[in-house]
Amino acid sequence: LSWCKKAYIQPCTIPGVKTTLAISSGKGGVGKSTTAVNLATALRLAGAKVGLLDADVYGPNVPQMLGLGKSEVEIIDTPEGQRFLPLSAYGIKVMSVGLLAEPNRPLAWRGPILHKIITQFIHEVQWGELDYLLIDLPPGTGDAQITIVQESPICGAIVVTTPQQVAISDVRRSVYMFRQVGVPVLGIIENMSYFINSNGEQTSIFGTGGGQKLADELKAPLLGEIPIDPRICSGGDTGKPLTLADPNSTTSQAFVQIAAAL
Ligand code: ADP
Repeated sequence: LSWCKKAYIQPCTIPGVKTTLAISSGKGGVGKSTTAVNLATALRLAGAKVGLLDADVYGPNVPQMLGLGKSEVEIIDTPEGQRFLPLSAYGIKVMSVGLLAEPNRPLAWRGPILHKIITQFIHEVQWGELDYLLIDLPPGTGDAQITIVQESPICGAIVVTTPQQVAISDVRRSVYMFRQVGVPVLGIIENMSYFINSNGEQTSIFGTGGGQKLADELKAPLLGEIPIDPRICSGGDTGKPLTLADPNSTTSQAFVQIAAAL
């Protein structure tokens, strides 16, 4: 897994930020935001300075997942111009469309606007000093996503999938999209890989080995397999990620191990 670190070939161009990592998926609903939030907290637990940019403008769930449901970001004046001041949750700096006051929320998320907003979020936020800026990208590989990936200073990308999805071309398209624009794919995370019942028995509800097979085919490492865990849902609803609520659980440790490789 130390391969990840070697794969950061592009230096980060955001002042004060060492590494920007995109978390992406071919489709919505595979657990991309859940992964972004739990990786952010796992990196924070390991002592890193972490920012999380929720660029999933179609479903900005990150604020709720981090207990920032009804909060709004402030805009401040700086010598470089106006900047958004990110909010802080569990020591993580957070910016999201979901944190903008109503009048600042654009009405339509068409491609060019989407790109402009995300670029603004990357460059016009007072991030300060960060070891990692995780970017929760909108799902898919349409024109908007390609432009964002092409024009944002992304050092590496992680693609999240589920076992049902592995045979589907969306995941391949995601990996190819990043490669096409020269962003190294650090690897694939298979979410909802298996379920551990109350007797401790592990069941692979959606079959086994799919993530690894796909990773082999795409020559991208399989960074980890995250179990199906009902507490992930409740953590998302209560605003305390599982990696913080129960850091020693099998599920949390799966995130911790991936974070350690980044
Ligand atoms: P995406 O960002 O890909 O649209 P989300 O992270 O919002 O997906 O997750 C979709 C739903 O699935 C949420 O309700 C989330 O709590 C749930 N979920 C994600 N990963 C898991 C998991 N490993 N176990 C149980 N529920 C999960």
